Amino acid sequence: MTTAPFDVLARIRATKRPDRADGERCEMCAEPVADEHQHVVNVAARQLMCTCRGCYLLFADPHAKLRFRAVPDRYLTFPDFTLDRRGWEALQIPVGLAFFFRNSEMDRTVAFYPGPAGATESELDLDAWNSISGADLRQPHSPHASLALGMLADDVEALLVRVPDRDQVDPELNAEAECYLVPIDACYEFVGRLRLLWRGFDGGHEVRAFVDEFFGRIKARSKVAAP
Ligand SMILES: [Zn+2]
Ligand SMILES: [Zn+2]
Repeated sequence: MTTAPFDVLARIRATKRPDRADGERCEMCAEPVADEHQHVVNVAARQLMCTCRGCYLLFADPHAKLRFRAVPDRYLTFPDFTLDRRGWEALQIPVGLAFFFRNSEMDRTVAFYPGPAGATESELDLDAWNSISGADLRQPHSPHASLALGMLADDVEALLVRVPDRDQVDPELNAEAECYLVPIDACYEFVGRLRLLWRGFDGGHEVRAFVDEFFGRIKARSKVAAP
């Protein structure tokens, strides 16, 4: 896939973790960095770079038109977010979760879902996306995901959406979808871990347990988004 929006996805496929395990260094200035460190997105090259605090801060202005953008560390939850099963199925994402972000270079929203090969890009049907996102200009006050999308910073933040397993909900009822705004590096870390745990067709029970644990952590650290 030559048009993969983020080369970092290839990196996650190729290595156990996006970060090297031994003696990590800032990819901008080569200063040693701790295991827990921040990241900067190289927008044009579509890469996630490990950075020291100093280099990170150089690119922290969200309004600056720069090649590099610091990945913010906010986590938000949207309790009013609604998405019914039909809306989700219209997106044709084969699993119950995906992350969406605005790629400023491509000037569009892209969607990725996890699987045995890492993250796979979904060919996002724009009509289906607009109708669930409320981004459709014909319905400017659609309450769906427009609030969440409006708050999303290009390239560095993603909306992580999960719908319940098909066999665990009454098909007549709307699924209780969850939606979080998260740093993009959290999505990559998540997908990388899932890939390592994935077994068989649907990932297996370890994957399900990890997904539940991960969403529990995201929920615990998220603040309710203010409209
Ligand atoms: Zn640095
Ligand atoms: Zn890193």
